[in-house]
Amino acid sequence: MIEIEGLTKIYENGVEAVRGIDLTVEPGEVFGLLGPNGAGKSTTIGMLTTTVIPTSGTARVAGHDVVREPLAARARSSVVFQESVVDASLTGRRNLELHARLWGAAGGRVDESAAMLGVADLLDRAVTTYSGGQRRRLEIARALVSNPDVLFLDEPTVGLDPRIRHELLDVIDGLQSDGRMTVLLTTHYLDEAERLCDRIAIMHLGAIVALGTPEELRAELGAEIVEIRVERDAERALARLREHGVAGDEAYVVGSTLTMPHPHGGTTATIAAVDALELGALEVGARRPNLDDVYLRLTGGRLADAA
Ligand code: ADP
Repeated sequence: MIEIEGLTKIYENGVEAVRGIDLTVEPGEVFGLLGPNGAGKSTTIGMLTTTVIPTSGTARVAGHDVVREPLAARARSSVVFQESVVDASLTGRRNLELHARLWGAAGGRVDESAAMLGVADLLDRAVTTYSGGQRRRLEIARALVSNPDVLFLDEPTVGLDPRIRHELLDVIDGLQSDGRMTVLLTTHYLDEAERLCDRIAIMHLGAIVALGTPEELRAELGAEIVEIRVERDAERALARLREHGVAGDEAYVVGSTLTMPHPHGGTTATIAAVDALELGALEVGARRPNLDDVYLRLTGGRLADAA
């Protein structure tokens, strides 16, 4: 449903925002582009939705080349950007109707889309009276009015408070219940990606540095990791652990935290060895790896810090 080959964007100022990415998203898949601000996620969505012109490479949406057949590509897809696009002075219904007319959609889709997003009861109120979460739902309902094959969601929950965010995630999850629509979303929230996505691509500096199901990505780090927080100079602590054969090449440091993947278990022995070396560790523990660890190992930066 989405086919990307060698897609590249270099902006006029010379910034290489997207550096030759390859990606295929299957029909009915919920796909997540994960990465910190500046990774190139929005630029990628911009190219797929024909608002950003690629420098080179190709992208097809529902079989239509985004450069050669932009209108056809756009007719089969919808996008919800971070910035609001609804007219706040109008009612919700009027906003949906205008969008339906633009895309030649039947009027019935207005009520259907509003019901899917749980905003049917608000439709006859001016959008100015909506809460932030309600407005975001209306934006998504608007995108669904044209009955797209592909829905692009750019940071769908950014700026929402935690409870509203979780409610919206349930709604987005529910959109896929019949598996007909393909969804590509960007996020820098790992929990969001894990909960919603069938597959995830981690982007870093314009490139895809990892691709797979959340389970596959986690499995790269193995069953368990040992995490050590030290007061200062984690690099030195890592060097000592390596000298003593406690840490291998796969261990890495971010800030004051040292992480040692344990693909085959055996963390108890490692913890005992760390204690014996008296590294001045503030905390030592073992746990199952999560996507944050995968991201850290690949990029050396925390998603939340970078965002
Ligand atoms: P993300 O969505 O992952 O935060 P973006 O695609 O917005 O990343 O940005 C990728 C890089 O491209 C960043 O370095 C950003 O500053 C740069 N960039 C984005 N839009 C433009 C633009 N219109 N002109 C020049 N540089 C841009």
